[in-house]
Amino acid sequence: MSPRIFRHVIPGIAGAAALSLVIGSSPVIAQGTASISGFSRDEAALQDEFEEALLSQVQPDSVGRWARTLAARPHVAGTPGQVATRDSVIAWHRAAGIDAGYDSLVLFMPHPLNVSLERTWPEPTPLDLAEPPLDEDPATRLDIVPVFNAYSGSGVAEGEVVFAGYGLPADYRMLDSAGISVRGKIVLARYGRSFRGIKAREAEERGALGLLLYSDPENDGFVRGDVYPLGPMRPPRGVQRGSVLNATGDPSTPNGPSLPGVPRVPEDQMVGVARIPVVPIGYGAAEALLLPLGGPPVPESWQGGLDLTYRFGPGPTRARVEVRTESGEAAYHAAYNTIAVIEGSEWPDEWVVIGAHRDAWSPGAMDNVSGTASVVEVARAFGAAAALGMRPRRTVVFVTWDAEEWGIIGSIEWVEAHAERLRASVVAYVNQDVPVSGSAFGAAASPELKALVRDAARRVTEPVRDGSVYDAWLTRVAESLDGETDPEPLPVGDLGGGSDHKGFYQHLGIPALGFGFGGPGGVYHSMYDTPRWMQEFGDPGYLYHAAAAQVASVVVSRLANAEIVPYDYVELAEVVDELTVHLEGEVASALAAATATEHAVGNAAPEVMENSPLARAVRAAMSDLRSSVVSIEAAGQAYALARDLALGAGTLASQRAGRVNEHLRAASLSLTSEAGLPGEEWSHQLLFASDPDNGYATLPMPAIRLALRAGDLGATAERIDELATHLGQAAEHLTAASASLSGEGIPAN
Ligand SMILES: [Zn+2]
Repeated sequence: MSPRIFRHVIPGIAGAAALSLVIGSSPVIAQGTASISGFSRDEAALQDEFEEALLSQVQPDSVGRWARTLAARPHVAGTPGQVATRDSVIAWHRAAGIDAGYDSLVLFMPHPLNVSLERTWPEPTPLDLAEPPLDEDPATRLDIVPVFNAYSGSGVAEGEVVFAGYGLPADYRMLDSAGISVRGKIVLARYGRSFRGIKAREAEERGALGLLLYSDPENDGFVRGDVYPLGPMRPPRGVQRGSVLNATGDPSTPNGPSLPGVPRVPEDQMVGVARIPVVPIGYGAAEALLLPLGGPPVPESWQGGLDLTYRFGPGPTRARVEVRTESGEAAYHAAYNTIAVIEGSEWPDEWVVIGAHRDAWSPGAMDNVSGTASVVEVARAFGAAAALGMRPRRTVVFVTWDAEEWGIIGSIEWVEAHAERLRASVVAYVNQDVPVSGSAFGAAASPELKALVRDAARRVTEPVRDGSVYDAWLTRVAESLDGETDPEPLPVGDLGGGSDHKGFYQHLGIPALGFGFGGPGGVYHSMYDTPRWMQEFGDPGYLYHAAAAQVASVVVSRLANAEIVPYDYVELAEVVDELTVHLEGEVASALAAATATEHAVGNAAPEVMENSPLARAVRAAMSDLRSSVVSIEAAGQAYALARDLALGAGTLASQRAGRVNEHLRAASLSLTSEAGLPGEEWSHQLLFASDPDNGYATLPMPAIRLALRAGDLGATAERIDELATHLGQAAEHLTAASASLSGEGIPAN
């Protein structure tokens, strides 16, 4: 099934008259003075008007209305509350004059039937896990969502408790060195420093019977400030729900889309789901387990924020944990991605996709009503502009994803179902996951889109402070530095895992970005992530919600209207150069380590290993990689020059622009591995992936690093060669783009 494209009907308003209407109602406009990346001067003036129309449309009242409605009650994927958000979003899109629909998935999402925890020693004490509703916060009293981790095992476990720090591989090495095993035990571990699914995987692999995940007050509780409802931080019984799935997409359909009626993998053969019970708890319940815990005290670095001496155990504290979840037919639930489309006036087959996950673990004012409301508001602004005769030149697709919280499922299933079409069409994916939890702006993007995020931040007025969003961002970053270091270019992070950009970027290689206004808070994935929390602490007046929708509007409209898609390959080449310098160091130490090991086991003298075919292959590959970095740097510079010359000379003919953009898209898409990453074949992007040993963290040059991590020098050499080849291809595409800009191979204007 291919995504439907809806033809948007433009009312017969004359463009010029419509434009003056919009301009008349808007504040000061810098006419034709701005240069905008990817636009010729004439087109930049039109784009400036287009942006002004969008910016003046986006309003705190409007985005606040969507947000309060969506966050009035919980809307977990597979529940009636989530069907209601689907219908609201579609109704709002239609009211904005945009055709909208949804696609239906049937997903394996076992909801909990019973989750309980009892401390069975010193004296049997049931530990109530439910989050107490609050009188002052009506959203906490409706449809209370049970405390659970999605894809926990179903069953009962009882045993001695062991405290495992953050529950990461390094923490288990620490336990090993203290002579403590978790086999046959109940592991208690802190949230933080990794995706929680990794914690479940590590505990299960080591023979733990059950896993309790708690939020230590040092991370987001009283140590950080007043707790909710007095302050924004996590109260003692506030619980972080969340998925522990270690798989891409629905575990019942590993090789295809989860459409109704397709065959499913039996539950006992599913990969990536936990087999042991895994339960999230608050620090109140964790304290009841930690207080009587014996064994040696933990090292200083493991001590948390509770007023007690943390100890490893095992025991004498004992706990009994029980999880019962749906199984069989009952575990399958419908999920819905909403899709709205404004067809492009000039290049309808090139798409810009903006998306936010619409499901939540609770009322979800922050995660992710703020993102959903932003997408709805951006769509409304585009709809209003289109009704005034200003339609985007490329097609814009507005999506709200379902079941992200269960494991990024709605977007991954959609991406897998339409992979070819998306690779052929999508210019960029713009993600909106928690765009607002405070006022501090930050962003992450694939390298060619970092500059676009900075430019968009310059265009939008900071709602509270003087100047633009960019100015406030610059001030904050400058204050965090020593005064000597230049804060510019402002740091835009690299894309890791953890949200809906993953399918677009890691699987398909499509450039992507995300951004948000952050702040202190401890209600993540709890029942206290409500409109009241947002109004009191996150974003009073929904001012930053509007600012987020404005930044998104600028980003999307520039991607949609630019004659030359605003990818920055000079910055991409700089990023690749930096990564290569780091890699050179790591490869040198890996070779040295291999030599030392060989020598130690008496296999060869150091000089023999130094000159072994394997070592020579790795060094030759590194030298090839170095040359391809030089090529892409040169090609990126030459392309930037050709682009600026061409755009400076005037408007580009549509056909020529189309040819250039085709080469640019090919350049970005060529940075993908046909084979996929070693052991992570679903991921193809060669510059960045999420670290499979962490889930959230970014792994740069992941194919090479995974080969290095496996200690396989032969594979390392192959993967370095692979990256060198693909960078060379990208450089060739950029050279072809430059040639097209200067008019080679196609008829002149
Ligand atoms: Zn989210």
